[in-house]
Formats: sequence, C-alpha cells, structure tokens
Amino acid sequence: MTTDTPQATLITQAAPIAVVTHGGRAKCLQRLVRLDLPVPRTVALSFDAVHAIAAGEMVDLDAILSEFPEDAILCVRPSSEDPDWGGPGAVLNIGMNDARFVSLSDTLGKEAASALYLRFVQAYAVHVARLDPDVFEDVEDGGPDALSEVLHAYEAEAEEPFPQNRGEQLAAVLRSMARAWEGTTARLLREAKGAPADAGLGLIVQEMALGLGQGECGSGVMQLANSQTGEPQVTGRYLSQSQGRDALGGGVEAMFLAQDDRGRSLQDEAPEAFADLSRHAALMRARLREEMQVEFVIENNQVHILDGVRIQRSARAAVKIAVRLAEDGVIPAEEALMRVDAHALNELLHRQVAPDATRDVLGRGIAASPGAARGKLVFTAAEAQASAARGEPCILARRETSPEDVRGMHAAVGVVTEKGGMTSHAAVIGRGLGLPCIVGVSSLRFNMRRKQLIAPDGRVVSAGTQVTLDGSTGEILLGEPEMLEAAQDDAFQTMMAWADEARDIGIRANADTPEDAITARKFDAQGIGLCRTEHMFFEPGRLTVMREMIFADTSEGRAAVLARLLPMQRDDFRELFRIMGGLPVCIRLFDPPLHEFLPTTTTGQRELAEALGLPISDVTRRVEEMGEYNPMLGLRGVRLGVTVPEIYDMQARAIFEASLEASSTEPEIMIPLVSAKREVELVKARIDAVAAAVRAERGQDFSYRLGVMVETPRAALRADEIAQSTEFMSFGTNDLTQMTYGLSRDDAGRFMSDYVQKGVFPEDPFHRLDVDGVGELLQLGVQRGREGRPDVVLSICGEHGGNPESIAFCRMVGFDYVSCSPFRVPVARLAAAQLAI
Ligand code: PEP
Ligand code: MG
Repeated sequence: MTTDTPQATLITQAAPIAVVTHGGRAKCLQRLVRLDLPVPRTVALSFDAVHAIAAGEMVDLDAILSEFPEDAILCVRPSSEDPDWGGPGAVLNIGMNDARFVSLSDTLGKEAASALYLRFVQAYAVHVARLDPDVFEDVEDGGPDALSEVLHAYEAEAEEPFPQNRGEQLAAVLRSMARAWEGTTARLLREAKGAPADAGLGLIVQEMALGLGQGECGSGVMQLANSQTGEPQVTGRYLSQSQGRDALGGGVEAMFLAQDDRGRSLQDEAPEAFADLSRHAALMRARLREEMQVEFVIENNQVHILDGVRIQRSARAAVKIAVRLAEDGVIPAEEALMRVDAHALNELLHRQVAPDATRDVLGRGIAASPGAARGKLVFTAAEAQASAARGEPCILARRETSPEDVRGMHAAVGVVTEKGGMTSHAAVIGRGLGLPCIVGVSSLRFNMRRKQLIAPDGRVVSAGTQVTLDGSTGEILLGEPEMLEAAQDDAFQTMMAWADEARDIGIRANADTPEDAITARKFDAQGIGLCRTEHMFFEPGRLTVMREMIFADTSEGRAAVLARLLPMQRDDFRELFRIMGGLPVCIRLFDPPLHEFLPTTTTGQRELAEALGLPISDVTRRVEEMGEYNPMLGLRGVRLGVTVPEIYDMQARAIFEASLEASSTEPEIMIPLVSAKREVELVKARIDAVAAAVRAERGQDFSYRLGVMVETPRAALRADEIAQSTEFMSFGTNDLTQMTYGLSRDDAGRFMSDYVQKGVFPEDPFHRLDVDGVGELLQLGVQRGREGRPDVVLSICGEHGGNPESIAFCRMVGFDYVSCSPFRVPVARLAAAQLAI
C-alpha cells in the first residue's frame, strides 16, 4: 500500500490528523485531546488505509494494538468527511472473549461482563459475519443464559467457534466496516446527500470506557442549548449501566441531566460527575466555537468524553445559537451571519407544519409561497369571503386565479391551484401577501362544479373539509397536523441588523397595497422597488369604472371616466407614500392587457350592459373585438401607454398630487414592457406635460424620476439608447425569462417538473435565475445601460430578486439593488450580507 498519510495514527495534540484525510470525527477527537479533555486513547485510520482494507489489504494490526493496553476492550467507529454522509454503525466491545468474560466477571460483576460480551457477539454475528439477524437480535438481553445461547447459535450458524483473538476480531470488524462503506447502497445514499463519488471513510479505534460495572457507570449525551428554540438549556439523556447510544433508545428509562427537568436526573444521582461534564461541555462550546452534543461515558464516577457533534437544530434555533455565540464573544458577528442558511429563514417568517407531525399527503404541487395554513376548503372567491366573514379560516382552491380572485385570496389563509408555475398570478399574489400557496397541482383533479378535489388514490375531498397547505414543501395535507408559529424574536432582529451592516447591495420590496407596504417596513426594506398598480383597479367599485373607461369610444370620453378613478388612485398612492415615510417608492404604470378587465361570463356581460345602459350585443362584440391570440405579447404595458395614453396621464397626475400631499421624496415612475427608445420618449413627453400642469395648478415645484422595466430581450439589447431617456432601469426577470425561453409563465407549471426531472432545466427558471441565458441578457443590459448613461440606477424586480443564488448574480453584475416580495426581504438581506463577507 502506498500512501502519503500514515495508515494508523495515535491521536495526540500534534498528530497529523485532518478532516480531508481522516474524517470529521477523528479531527474532532483531536480537538478534544488538545483541550485536555478525558478522551479514551484513540487511533485514527486514514481514508487511504480504509480504502486499502476494503480492497483486501490489511493495515499493520500489531502496530495499532501496541498503542493500547493488552487487555483493553476496543471499539471501532466511522469518521466520514461530513457526518451527514452516514457510515457503518459502531462496533463496541472488541476484545471480549471467554477469558475476558471470566476476568471481568471478577472485577465488574458477572452481569456486566455478560452484557459486554453478549453485545459484541450479537454485533459481530450480524454486521461482521453477516449471519441471520433474526437469530441474534431477538435474544433477551441480560437473561442468565443469553450469552451461552448466543455463542452456541454463532457456532451453529457460522460453523466455527466465535473468534477469541482480539487482533483477529479487530481485523474482521475493520474489513466489514470498510466494505460496507464501499457498497452500492451506501454510496447511492451518501451521493444523494451531496457526497462525491470518491468520498472516503476514516475509522477510529478507541479504547472503551465501558459504562458498565461498579460505582456509577453509564452513558449518555449532553447539550447546552435546546435544539428547537436555541435557548440555553442543559438537555440530554443518561442511562446507568449502558453503552453507546442506549440512553437515546425508545423504551428505556433514561434520566434527564439537569435537576430542573422533571424526573430523576444525573445532577441528583452523581453531582460531581455532572459538574465535570458541564465544565467539559462549556469548554467544548467555547473552544470548538459551536453548540455541541457531547457523547460521554461515566465509569465509576469518572467522566470520559467520547465525541462531540454539532447539535441538530431548527432554523429558529440556528439563528438563536449563532447570535448567542457572537454575543458571548465566541465567534465574530460576521461568522454568525454565515452560519445561518438564508433559505431557512423562511421557516421563521411563517407558520410551519411541525417537523415531527404526521402528514397525510393528499397531493403535491409547486411550493410557490412558503408557510403552512389550515382551514376549510372553499372553491370560489365569494365563498372565501363569506367564510372569512364568519371567522372561519379557509383554503381557496381554484383551477388558476385571476385578478377577480384577489379579494378571495385576501380572505383565505392559503391558496391552491391546479395550474400555474412560480410566477403565475396565484404565486405572485400569494408571496406578496405572505399567504402559503401551492400551484400546478396536476396530481389532484379539481372538479369545480362538484367542488371536490380527487386524489390519485381515489379519495374525494369536498368543500368544507379541513385541509392543510404546506407552502414550503408543496404538499396538500388532509386534517390538522401540529404547527409551529413564526418567530421573529430578538435574535432574529439582531441578526438582521448585523446583516444590514455587512451587505453592499440595496434591498427593496415589491409592494402593491398598504398591507404589503407595512410588511415591507416591518422587514426594513429600503423602499418599494415595484408597485404594480393594476391590482388597485380590481377594488370593488373600481372595476366597473375601469370597464366604462374601456368602453369609451373617444379620448375625451375616456378622460372623463378616468377622472373618476383619479381620486381613488391618488388616495392609494398617498397611503403608500405615508407608510413608507420618505423612503423611495417606485410606481409602475398600468401593465396588463385591457381585456383582462372585461367580463368573460354571460352573466358578467349582462351586468355590465345594465351598468352601461348598452345592449348586451354591444358588450359581447366589444369583448370579442378586444380578444387577442397572445395577450401577454399583445396590447399591454407601454403599448397601452402609447395607444391609450389617458390611463398613464391619470396615473402620473395621481402620483404627483399624492406625493405633494404626502410631502414625500421625489416619486419614481416606471414604464413597463418597453422595447424601443421611442416608446419611452412618447410616454416621457406626456408625463412631463402632466408634471408641468400639476406644478402650475398647485403652485408647487417638484421633481420625479422616470425609469423603465427591462422585460423584453430587445430592451436589454438596446439598453444603451433606452438608458439615455431614463434615470433607472429595473429588470423584470419574470417576463424576461418568459420571453427569452418563449415559455409561458402561466402554463409552464404543467410540464416544469418533467423538464427538471429529465435534466432539461437544472431548476425552474422562473424560480432560480437562468444565469446562462437570461443572465447573459442581464449582463449585456447592465453593461449597455451604463454605457448609455453612467449614473443610471440598475435593479431587478422579478421574483428572482428574493432568491439567494440570483442575488449573488445580481451583485456580481453590478446591480444597485434587488426588489422582492415583502416576506422575502429578510432572506434577501441575509443572503446579500453573506455575499459581502
Ligand atoms: C417581471 O416581469 O419580472 C415583473 C416584475 O413584472 P410582472 O411580474 O408584474 O409582469
Ligand atoms: Mg412583467
């Protein structure tokens, strides 16, 4: 065997042990040795050595054994690079044989000696000799004849006596553990957790602290923080006369550690050992700079430390632990920021289904807006409103949502749609409202007429049934699993404040309503980066006025109807300016195709005919005339601004008047869907004229900033000339992704999972920015925009603005800020800080 690392190394303070050569456990044990903690003598085998053993070579066993006393009982434990990659189970009590059984019976007592030997024979038979587990695992532990029964069974099954030589036993254990690691199942399992194909395994040979015998003996684990909350709390389990992880097994009467837990505690039973252990645990926290779970054995009142692993933790505990470590001076604040997964913050911002709750999964879709919600199933927006009025939480199920469902969405606690993808209407509104939302649930059949959801297994769920949506996993669950509440506690606020100090890219929120704006403020967004004004036209009372406007034949007629909308819009904007308290507010002019506002059903058309005093045939004809084959590529955005300019005139006036009345900072006005410089010039000329008129009427001077949305590939390509007429450009990556791929954002949900599964897309490009394609257009747009106007302010306001990987790209290409749904603002703030550190 040729290797640069020694095959087997006694772990001392100075031994050459590294995670990449010997694994995490070996490295951790070395750290514990350096802290002078009472760690049993340990030899570490390198990845190379274990690999060679699996291939049929054997390390120098005599050299290993010479490191231990002749009669030491040993154990072998795995040490992989990352503990999550798993590894074969530990084998304890190597060296037990007939002679040791006799001698230990004298010193520890027969019962303890028998338990030690029995445990080893059982493990050896099943995991090393690979004999039938049924024969060995059902033996009644500790029964007086158990040991001899098992030894006989071994001899019968293996057709040879149980090996008595310690070296032979150790060799067989090492070989079987090395081979188990190389097996196909183990490899596939760890690769699924991100391990590379050639991930190595180290092995630890350690002298046993037995945990059985005279005086207080036993084993257990201790940690100094609660895994769910992160609060300081001594927790763990200890079991007298036990080994390994026995104390954690089900059905055993383990003790608690500290007195303040209910029931018997180690602190009561063995106060000195408890005090030693607590000191060791505190030292490990301080010096390993992490909350650790300490694995220990007590042998005749003496504490031995076997291992320390980072404690498992929920997202809220991760924040609390990181902040406490920094506040205690154990780690710097910047490191605390790096220790929390930005994605996981979502768990703190929303209610969650408790991790250990039982889930009865009815169907699955795209997890479009995180958090969990439960309520009675309803199938129309009107039912949702009625349910809310009765004070009954409800889940709104629709095939897909349209602007007319928005009020129902406000009334519901969660939304589920059969169709749609990450940027479909339900998804965008859901995220904006912080409302759990699942879209593209093609596995369930939505029978809207009968008001039923039909699961693939034939279960039928009708309106009124209690269901739970898990918008973080995309699962629709039957019933009411246990929930965890949102937790924006002090630790969260502290972490966010540190993040703001560290980051170097701005974060604004996409906010359309006063509620959105309040959320944006609550999460300390630096302003509104996108206010989609069209939602304001779906308010009750306004839709009819809007429809009258659409039906007006002349420019004057349109202007007259719009004059009725003006005060309403002015109120909307004044409220937003007021809530934002002087922070920048960027308002996007009307964007959607007009026909979205027209009634599609005969009843709706009849109602409109009545309201307008027109024959229904006129209404139907007009609706038909306005139909487009491809509305998302049709008369919408700036094209409306150019052809029906009165709408933008009214909106600009409402913005200016509101801004004056609210004494806000200069408003930002944004033109959607541009693709040519001339479009901007035409709209700019009219808005300038409106500004001049308002200045004259009000006798007050003011300025405003004009910008465009870059949402068409042409706008990105021609950004240099477009930038000359604008002060800012905000990249709308929802439409830009749609147009770059030629992929409908409202229909992609149907085949997205196939595309991702088959590896066509690494991930849904509406969720994670396609850096290769759409990203190249962004990069070109940024570069050309700055060429056209060096001080142009650049940002992104598509849904990608809240995605940590996309933020990394935006920062790299030089955006000034990102704007995302209000509930994603904290995630964006932390992700941006991590990028800057
Ligand atoms: C976009 O297209 O990225 C965007 C922000 O606008 P909307 O989602 O309203 O089309
Ligand atoms: Mg858009």
